[in-house]
Amino acid sequence: MNPVTIVGAGLAGCEAAYQLAKRNIPVRLYEMRPKKMTPAHKSGYFAELVCSNSLRGDTLMQGVGVLKAEMRLWSSLIIDCAALHRVPAGHALAVDREGFAAEVHRRIREHPLIEIVEDEVKRLPEAPAIIASGPLTSEALLEALRGVIGEETLHFFDAASPVIRADSVDTDVCYWKSRYDKGTADYLNCPMDEVTYKAFYEALSRAPKTPLKDFEYNVFERCMPIEEMARRGEKTLLFGPMKPVGLEQGDGKRPHAVVQLRQDDARSSLFNLVGFQTRLTQAAQKAIVRMIPGLEKAVIVRYGAMHKNTYVNAPMLLDETYAFKTRPDCHIAGQLAGVEGYVESASSGLVAAISLYRSLTGKSQRAFPKETMMGALSDYVATTSKRGFQPMNANFGLLPEPDVKLKKRERKPYLAERALSTMKTFRETVDDRS
Ligand SMILES: Cc1cc2nc3c(=O)[nH]c(=O)nc-3n(C[C@H](O)[C@H](O)[C@H](O)COP(=O)(O)OP(=O)(O)OC[C@H]3O[C@@H](n4cnc5c(N)ncnc54)[C@H](O)[C@@H]3O)c2cc1C
Repeated sequence: MNPVTIVGAGLAGCEAAYQLAKRNIPVRLYEMRPKKMTPAHKSGYFAELVCSNSLRGDTLMQGVGVLKAEMRLWSSLIIDCAALHRVPAGHALAVDREGFAAEVHRRIREHPLIEIVEDEVKRLPEAPAIIASGPLTSEALLEALRGVIGEETLHFFDAASPVIRADSVDTDVCYWKSRYDKGTADYLNCPMDEVTYKAFYEALSRAPKTPLKDFEYNVFERCMPIEEMARRGEKTLLFGPMKPVGLEQGDGKRPHAVVQLRQDDARSSLFNLVGFQTRLTQAAQKAIVRMIPGLEKAVIVRYGAMHKNTYVNAPMLLDETYAFKTRPDCHIAGQLAGVEGYVESASSGLVAAISLYRSLTGKSQRAFPKETMMGALSDYVATTSKRGFQPMNANFGLLPEPDVKLKKRERKPYLAERALSTMKTFRETVDDRS
């Protein structure tokens, strides 16, 4: 059998290589480091974590915790190595980053069915293949990708605003309205008077920022963070994301400034702060967001961030197994496919590998069930709106609603239990002959 080509020995590429090899499918894995480094990686280890050493929550009350539990059912390489190199971090799964990467590296290198090629891939590989070259894919490969999928399907930066939990917003203070009452009242507006705005502006101007890396300057120029807008003058925000015009309250009074919240997930359990992309430190983001009327108790589930992040417009290009709609034996996995985060990237490598394995062994294709976190994530990536597509991480909002009536506190345990039992059944059927 011809080997499967995998480009990139990161989180997604290593998981995919391992899942294929353990099913007796030979793999040729290309990795350009250490010969050619990315701007963020520091070593030649496979699966190096480029930033935080946390793989985030590890309980069934967290979306990413459910994702991990599902991956354990597949004996995931990444989750297994993380467990071996775990460091104390409360309910999160954090790792000794060097020990973790060295472990993945060793296991992949020692596998007899995985051939390693230490080289940069500059052309699109022949199928069967998985392209898992990550958010910092080399320029030559990007150029090749561009030639096939077109410029408009590639995005180059991640300028994310903080995302907060809807149930942490004080709806007695905020009001629903769209600007000039156009369309439906889809935005929840947090009104500010002049005194509050001035205090907010002062705090924002003084708040500490995360340092900008050299390679991030282009990103920064193309998408202005709020603290930079504030630096340009006290009124700049009032003509930008905090513009109050057309957002008069019920009594017809116009607030001095307004922060708009927009629904961020299908279930309306999350909101993002419109136009609030930022590179403030996480502690500063928390403090600043809580100065906004109605958000005094806001719980941030995803902090704002700005860094280079290449990803494709997956809903245009990929199906729910991360395969190209037009080339079923060629997949994109990892951050490049439009998932967000270490664990999500590894999970997409797993889904792509299982899909390829089934196709190469003549079995019918099977997308992962939508009731599982892995299936819900890949379904989201393949089918969500093509306009303004943004990378997504694991969360309960992606899962189909429970088919029984439940109290709020019963919801997450129910969804987690349903995801795991569905995955167990699916896992058993996937290696069969049907
Ligand atoms: C600056 C930055 C900070 C981040 N911080 C976090 C964080 O704190 N937490 C989090 O969960 N996620 C973070 N992310 C996202 C993170 O990159 C992903 O979660 C994860 O690493 C993606 O896994 P991956 O397998 O898709 O890509 P990677 O892990 O980056 O692996 C891709 C691999 O492909 C190789 N490669 C690239 N081009 C080629 C080529 N042409 N030929 C051969 N090899 C190639 C690279 O060297 C790399 O080893 C961050 C991303 C960036 C850019």
